[in-house]
Amino acid sequence: MISAVLPTYNRAPLAFVRGEGSWLVAEDGSRYLDLGAGIAVNALGHAHPALVQTLTDQAQKLWHVSNIYRIPEQDRLAEMLVDLTFADTVFFTNSGTEAAELAIKMARKYHNDKGAPHRTQIITFEGAFHGRSTGAIAAAGSEKMVKGFGPLMPGFTHLAWADHDAIRAAITDQTCAVIIEPIQGEGGIRQVPDQCLKGLRDLCSATGTLLIFDEVQCGMGRSGKLFAHEWAGVTPDIMMVAKGIGGGFPLGAVLATEDAASGMTAGTHGSTYGGNPLACAVGAKVTELIADPDFLDAVSAKAARFRQGLEGLVASHPSVFQAVRGTGLMLGLKCVVPNTDVVKAGYSRHVLTVAAADNVLRLLPALNIPDDDITEALSRLDAVASDLEGAQAALRP
Ligand SMILES: *Cc1c(COP(=O)(O)O)cnc(C)c1O
Repeated sequence: MISAVLPTYNRAPLAFVRGEGSWLVAEDGSRYLDLGAGIAVNALGHAHPALVQTLTDQAQKLWHVSNIYRIPEQDRLAEMLVDLTFADTVFFTNSGTEAAELAIKMARKYHNDKGAPHRTQIITFEGAFHGRSTGAIAAAGSEKMVKGFGPLMPGFTHLAWADHDAIRAAITDQTCAVIIEPIQGEGGIRQVPDQCLKGLRDLCSATGTLLIFDEVQCGMGRSGKLFAHEWAGVTPDIMMVAKGIGGGFPLGAVLATEDAASGMTAGTHGSTYGGNPLACAVGAKVTELIADPDFLDAVSAKAARFRQGLEGLVASHPSVFQAVRGTGLMLGLKCVVPNTDVVKAGYSRHVLTVAAADNVLRLLPALNIPDDDITEALSRLDAVASDLEGAQAALRP
């Protein structure tokens, strides 16, 4: 018999009832060190006092009003993001998928309104993940996500990951936009080299192609900068944000330049919930805390400490781990054994990690993870690797 909840998830046999910083507490009271943070969502850890306060204060005033009316909390967050980034304007969504949908619509509308309605083709990359809507799966195009769901939305060209010559060859007079994650998350913590992002920016500018960054996972301080593309010193025309920006409250956004957004006039797009007072009040507090330069410096310091420890684990457990990947607190361990075995062995040692493609184990802790918890994380991952080595030894004749 089918479960009451649609069985689309491979669930771990764990359920949590409470969270405190980098820790999750299970039904039986046992504590798990959370290195997944809701897949880069709980950017400030669980139950951060300032976020609890902000949410509670707003909940007592006003939860929701329609976008028919002005929403001051939304104006405030939009102004913060405009001040902090390349963007001139922001649209709020409830998720990354919805941000991807708008980014696609905005890019096509742009060329349509500029007298080039034939420019509809959007270039994306192998290993990409942009969400689960029909448009977002067509955009990413992986067999696993699209199989059985056709006919797919047309108009996407899938290229090998960050192959500059292939991109150059693929841009034609039909090309609308390029969508790329500066650091792929689901794809296995793969960072586009700075030179490559610069080259892509030049190529897009020269051909009038819109450059869209998907920073749903790598944005909001995860890389040690507010947005990962800042490391390369380039800016996109459009950017998708979600996950960390709500700190656990569902919130996403599309940021754009005035020119890129020029087709999106009144009535061309909308959302019932997107940018409601509760979400934006929390989002503004998250943004205020993360955008603080001292906070971002601390992320980089924690990242250096964590990374150094992970390099040590690779050196001491070469039959389990092969290499460290990533930037900031968006880290990955390329595994020798199946990454899902490492995730499972982690449950026994009460440390939570997330699998990604390319046999990579993702480590996406809260950005404010205390140094003691990093030490604890490394010691638990060391124990996990030893357990797996023990299992390997037991199998040898
Ligand atoms: C998670 C993710 C999305 C989709 O976000 P949802 O909130 O799950 O819809 C899109 N792009 C990237 C890079 C992501 O990591």
